[in-house]
Amino acid sequence: MKRTEPFEMYQPTSLKEASRLLKEKGPGGRFLAGGTDLVIAMKEKGLVPKYVVDLKRLPGLTGIHENKDGRITIGALTTMREIETSPVLTKKYPFLCQSAAEVGSIQIRNRATVGGNMSNATPSADVAPSLIALQAKTTIASAAGERTVALEEFFRGPGQNVMSTDEILTEVTIPKTSSRLVGEYIKFSPREMMDLAYVGVAVVYTLGEKEKTCEAVHIVLGAVAPTPIRAKKAEDALEGQILSEALAEKVGALAAEEAKPISDVRSSAEYRRAMVGAMTKRALLNAAVGPAKSWVERRDRRY
Ligand SMILES: Cc1cc2nc3c(=O)[nH]c(=O)nc-3n(C[C@H](O)[C@H](O)[C@H](O)COP(=O)(O)OP(=O)(O)OC[C@H]3O[C@@H](n4cnc5c(N)ncnc54)[C@H](O)[C@@H]3O)c2cc1C
Repeated sequence: MKRTEPFEMYQPTSLKEASRLLKEKGPGGRFLAGGTDLVIAMKEKGLVPKYVVDLKRLPGLTGIHENKDGRITIGALTTMREIETSPVLTKKYPFLCQSAAEVGSIQIRNRATVGGNMSNATPSADVAPSLIALQAKTTIASAAGERTVALEEFFRGPGQNVMSTDEILTEVTIPKTSSRLVGEYIKFSPREMMDLAYVGVAVVYTLGEKEKTCEAVHIVLGAVAPTPIRAKKAEDALEGQILSEALAEKVGALAAEEAKPISDVRSSAEYRRAMVGAMTKRALLNAAVGPAKSWVERRDRRY
């Protein structure tokens, strides 16, 4: 790993100051959160920022809060490890904890933030599919004010999102959900750890009270399009139906049709498409069974 070129470093203590720095100092600046993407880009991929604005001294951007109205807010600087081990998330959305647990190694998860994972906008970002399936919203702030964007609308392409250079992602909010909501995230990656998803599939649905029909179905695919995408035809095929293995297979096949994968060093497009089908079927059936109780069980039911 080579040494970085010299750059100016700022450590603002307010959102306005951080945003103003990017506006006043002009092009070539970058925000810094955990640094697990930015520092690698600087040391290994030739990125030379003119200046870096560290977000870690900004107040109020960390932590997971359950609001009285049932919404859950996750501060942008919350680490993957905090999401993975959060008691409130483990109870309500174990598949979201699971998606954070899939990121890199424990050392990476102790630094990597959810805000960085979203802002970096890698199509394979592990936490994005589960959050989109939960219909999460992002709050974006700058010196000019604040706006809210649905996470589903946040990504624009590989490495691109809706934020302008002086905007900061401050939090991700999960709206109130039904107590009958179930879900699953499967990262398909042949190597056990430390590789990006070849395919990521998050499914979320609510089980009908009496007949166990699947309602409010959300199926989100990662790493098989320029951004995470919803498989809407697949969702429609399951909506209002009682899940069976045959139906899960059919829904998986529809999701595979909706994927737009590319071939690259990790996998051919054909293989990715086939795995979307298999993983969507498995995720739907796993969600119905309930969360895995251990890391070993979680790993075993992936394949
Ligand atoms: C060895 C290794 C393994 C990894 N494995 C995985 C994996 O399995 N799955 C996975 O999804 N990712 C993986 N990653 C990628 C990385 O850990 C995540 O994307 C991480 O969540 C990025 O967060 P960060 O806080 O480190 O971001 P940083 O590196 O600090 O920032 C990333 C980018 O986002 C911008 N940014 C950060 N925070 C904000 C904000 N709040 N508002 C506006 N812009 C912001 C920065 O300017 C920068 O451009 C891996 C990385 C490494 C080094």
